[in-house]
Amino acid sequence: MPRQWTEGQREEARQRAKEHGFGRKANVTHGPSDEALLLARAQATPSVVTKDNLEGEEVTDGDSGTVTHTKPGLVRVYKPTPFGYKARYIPATNVTAALNNGFLGKCPDCNGECGDGPNDCPERPKRMYRTCPVPQCGKQIFDYEQKDIDALEDDAEDPMAIRDDAYMQSTPQLRTKAVLDKHMLIRHPNEAAAAGIVAPVQREVQRV
Ligand SMILES: [Zn+2]
Ligand SMILES: [Zn+2]
Repeated sequence: MPRQWTEGQREEARQRAKEHGFGRKANVTHGPSDEALLLARAQATPSVVTKDNLEGEEVTDGDSGTVTHTKPGLVRVYKPTPFGYKARYIPATNVTAALNNGFLGKCPDCNGECGDGPNDCPERPKRMYRTCPVPQCGKQIFDYEQKDIDALEDDAEDPMAIRDDAYMQSTPQLRTKAVLDKHMLIRHPNEAAAAGIVAPVQREVQRV
């Protein structure tokens, strides 16, 4: 006997299907699938030949006594992580295994091949950052994503959660400065000293 659906039930089923990803644009593929394209790209990626000297160091030309190695070329894939899909380069020979482990050939957010920096995907929310002022370094230090900060604030609505104002009042400026100061102290101690950055004084816990 055919089931009689009310309009409400029908709408509910539509929503459920949507939540499970049916009918999403990304699933409508015309022509070869994302997996097939990635495998084709992996097959077309040439191997890389490197020359090592007998001490195992890579050399570029005519050193006497060299060993030639052939390595698979690298292919860009998107690795699933708890923080979303991240661009990674893997050996072309590992692409089948990567596909079996849920890696994708394209970023599912922008449906393109965006880069591996936190702000490189045109569809993902942008994060504030600082750049290390040491020219040879230039490391970028990114703040949290806004949704992670919102999640923290949601927790704070629980009346049993203790709200620590010292942390709640931190800003992207303060957070990234703290990380950059630490980076300067560890990686560039001379520049840190010149900029007047000092390590926080270790509290003498023993005497309390
Ligand atoms: Zn993207
Ligand atoms: Zn640096």
